Amino acid sequence: MQDAGSVQRTNINPATGEAIGATPMDAVGAADKAVAAAARAFPEWSATPVGDRVQHLFKYKTLLEQHAGELAQIIVEEHGKTLGEAMGSVRRGIDCIEHACAAPVLMMGRTLPQIAVSSSFCRTDNEGGVGIDSAVDRVPVGVCLGITPFNFPVMVPMWMWPMAVACGNTFVLKPSEKDPASAVRTTELAQEAGFPKGVLNLVHGGIDVVKHLITHDDVRAISFVGSTRAGASIYATGAAAGKRVQCMCGAKNHSIIMPDANRGAAVDGVIGSAFGNTGQRCLAGSVVVLVGDTADWFMPALVEGAKKIAVGIGGEKGTGMGPMQDAESCDRAVSYIEIGEGEGADLLLDGRKAKMPDTGCFVGPTIFDNARPEMRIVSEEIFGPVLTIMRAKTLDDAVAMVNQSEYGNMSVIFTDSGHAAHRFETTVEAGMLGVNVGVPAPMAAFPFAGWKKSFYGDLHTNGEDGVRFFTKARVTVRRWL
Ligand code: NAD
Repeated sequence: MQDAGSVQRTNINPATGEAIGATPMDAVGAADKAVAAAARAFPEWSATPVGDRVQHLFKYKTLLEQHAGELAQIIVEEHGKTLGEAMGSVRRGIDCIEHACAAPVLMMGRTLPQIAVSSSFCRTDNEGGVGIDSAVDRVPVGVCLGITPFNFPVMVPMWMWPMAVACGNTFVLKPSEKDPASAVRTTELAQEAGFPKGVLNLVHGGIDVVKHLITHDDVRAISFVGSTRAGASIYATGAAAGKRVQCMCGAKNHSIIMPDANRGAAVDGVIGSAFGNTGQRCLAGSVVVLVGDTADWFMPALVEGAKKIAVGIGGEKGTGMGPMQDAESCDRAVSYIEIGEGEGADLLLDGRKAKMPDTGCFVGPTIFDNARPEMRIVSEEIFGPVLTIMRAKTLDDAVAMVNQSEYGNMSVIFTDSGHAAHRFETTVEAGMLGVNVGVPAPMAAFPFAGWKKSFYGDLHTNGEDGVRFFTKARVTVRRWL
């Protein structure tokens, strides 16, 4: 374990208010040791055949499946998710391991024999031109750094390090200081899976440690997931220091509901998207745009459905929505309810008045209606269970409202019309789109990231982009004389 540093952050169970641990915030010396260990391990690990490297991931996947319940309990305790949400997020993390196990195929290069013919003037025989072959291989980049947010403490690190190490890199993970216990446990399980020393290294800390690591000489690539404020700065600093950087950042996501939508699917989809994980999801559909007369059937069902969500302790049976992760997040959500009232939107459901436990960081589902694009409750990321509704006359008007956002992580449409869905897909500006799904969730085999201020970089995480991010292209041109 690393040295303690001089500043510690006390971590609180957000459902009960009890202290459950502490994170060292400024242990820069420990971060240096972790990078040095990763750099030492790199030559041997990168030279290990990829088929042997992924054997550790196969073992790791089995261990994660065996310990899924234990990991979910840790998430419930330190993050506040419901048990179902926590189990689901562990499963999505395991999907990433399964994908990384395919590295022997995913990393394969390509060859084109006889791409050109050279008529060598030094040849004396009469065999004609000499064939030239060209080949591209994918080779690891070196020590990679992952910086992750609090909201999916098991799943998000799995977007990064399994594929990175499968591709032959070594890795330093800096999880969120707010809920680091699941990263500690998943790293212990990686050791149990037999990864050699130095292949995966865990470092704790806050901003000081991140700032130190992103310009470290031995770090070659940085994968970040978190807020736009932090991501924009990490991208600028890391890229200026010559690192390969991808930053998956903040969001404000819109759902468009057409009059012809399947009513049950639209209402359930919006409720799950806006209030699932207590709205603390980069894919939370926190703004809805209702087209035409959709509000007549949508609004009563939405409010009725949201009122039924049981707010409570994540680990207890029957809880539909857990607490916010910490008091600061809770205060932010409450302050946006006040902002929405001040901006003149109609507060149809007030999360401050929901039935909820007396202790802990709770705020209930909140719904504002008749909002406008210029309002802060529409344009700013709240990252809590606050849903805002706007009205539009036509689909094109709705898409124009969506495209005013400075974010572009995801957008979804609910409709029965192929024509409307196609128009939406080809005009809306977002990296992840959904048609009749509330959350177009990341799938390990497909690239995942947003557009605009939701992403800084070139290659997205996961899928083929993930393989390309964690490898360099090396082209060889061969001629045999
Ligand atoms: P955060 O930006 O506060 O923290 C993320 C990580 O960055 C943490 O490890 C933290 O220690 C570090 N950090 C924070 N501020 C920093 C700074 N100024 N300089 C350097 N490092 C810094 O984010 P969070 O509150 O943990 O997570 C919520 C945010 O993450 C939301 O904005 C959410 O939309 C975003 N998110 C995005 C995705 C995505 O895929 N786009 C996924 C999950 C979460």
